[in-house]
Amino acid sequence: MISRKRSEELFTTAKTYFPGGVNSPVRAFKSVGGTPLFIKKGDGCRITDEDGNTFIDFCLSWGPLLLGHNNSKIREKVWETIQNGTSFGAPTALENELADLILSNNRYLEKIRFVSSGTEAVMSAVRLARGFTGRDKILKFEGCYHGHVDSLLVKAGSGLVTFGNSSSAGVPKGLVNDTIVVPLNRIDLVEAAFQEFEGQIAAVIIEPIPANNGLLQVSKEFLFCLACKAKKHGALLIFDEVISGYRVGFEGAAGLYDIAPDIITYGKIIGGGFPVGAYGASKEIMSRVSPDGDVYQAGTLSGNPVAMSAGIAALTECLKPGFYEQLDQKTSRFVSRIEAHVAERNYPFRIFRIGSIFWLAFTKNDIRAAEEIDPAGMDKFRVLHAFLLDNGVYFGPSGYEVGFVSAAHTDEDLEFSAAKICEGLDLVYA
Ligand SMILES: *Cc1c(COP(=O)(O)O)cnc(C)c1O
Repeated sequence: MISRKRSEELFTTAKTYFPGGVNSPVRAFKSVGGTPLFIKKGDGCRITDEDGNTFIDFCLSWGPLLLGHNNSKIREKVWETIQNGTSFGAPTALENELADLILSNNRYLEKIRFVSSGTEAVMSAVRLARGFTGRDKILKFEGCYHGHVDSLLVKAGSGLVTFGNSSSAGVPKGLVNDTIVVPLNRIDLVEAAFQEFEGQIAAVIIEPIPANNGLLQVSKEFLFCLACKAKKHGALLIFDEVISGYRVGFEGAAGLYDIAPDIITYGKIIGGGFPVGAYGASKEIMSRVSPDGDVYQAGTLSGNPVAMSAGIAALTECLKPGFYEQLDQKTSRFVSRIEAHVAERNYPFRIFRIGSIFWLAFTKNDIRAAEEIDPAGMDKFRVLHAFLLDNGVYFGPSGYEVGFVSAAHTDEDLEFSAAKICEGLDLVYA
């Protein structure tokens, strides 16, 4: 076993400073057990912890690091910008530059607003939809995560079309009552919700590629019908592409499926590893955002020049010909290696994958809804996770989380990792 002495000491101290010793809950290793590793540095697809152990990383800061750690293009651009100061609270040319990169390469957006996190982007998009439609209710789907926005920390109740229950203490009942939760892939229930709350639903919000609760399979037909239903009933369709945006293609899931939502939210990759979020829509919808319109939204550090620079450098790489094709092929080869081993041994195990997002599932079944995930699989994930940590491969510390492949992972790195995952599965199913 590798030494975790320094991480253990740091975690003990961190617990005296932060709830659970962390600044975001999943980092605490609660669902896999053991001590979170304190990371000292990252380079390419590798991270090194405070004890000097190095790992091939498939967590990648939970998605933002499409180009891997410490990418030289991003580092140089950030360095160039930071020489001139870090924040002005006044417009900079860099904001125009990133907006131009985004808007001239996206068929679904005419205007955008930068914010500082995915949560902030979603929160603002929901307010905009409410302001634009003059309605209060939001329809969301069980199994989709949209950040820690009060209105969206709501999970399904007992019925099929229900007011949900809050999934966090501290969420006002009034907000919970304005959130309707429906299972994924059930367009009949979406229609039922629209009938029941005729004229009251401001927006339908969905992760078009739900990747925060496993990687749930949502059909293109369902998304297409969702767009039609929203239009028919005068509600806006919000694609929350905080995870899928710039991950499955430059135009995200909207481009992959060629479905035009009314509002799109971004985060993660858009900031190149810095805190950036964004929401965008047509000129008409965005004209309602202050100071043009009456929907208030602001941010002291919004459009921060250092963060914009990182975003510019990252998205410039994404636009290079073949970028996504290469990433897709590489991930496909990686997944196939593991699948071949699994098929040979006949393990009840699958890897779901879209582009460079993948999810290890301890089942033979299709998984199209959150409740189809067997919690017993999480015990198996715990064993696999521990084995991989001892063998130089780092996955996010929860079986409900997806893994990512970056442009920095080489075929060799992926071959090594696939072999370790196969060995780990042999242990899990021994
Ligand atoms: C990560 C994520 C968020 C929240 O973004 P933060 O930057 O963590 O606030 C919202 N929606 C989706 C789909 C996400 O994956």
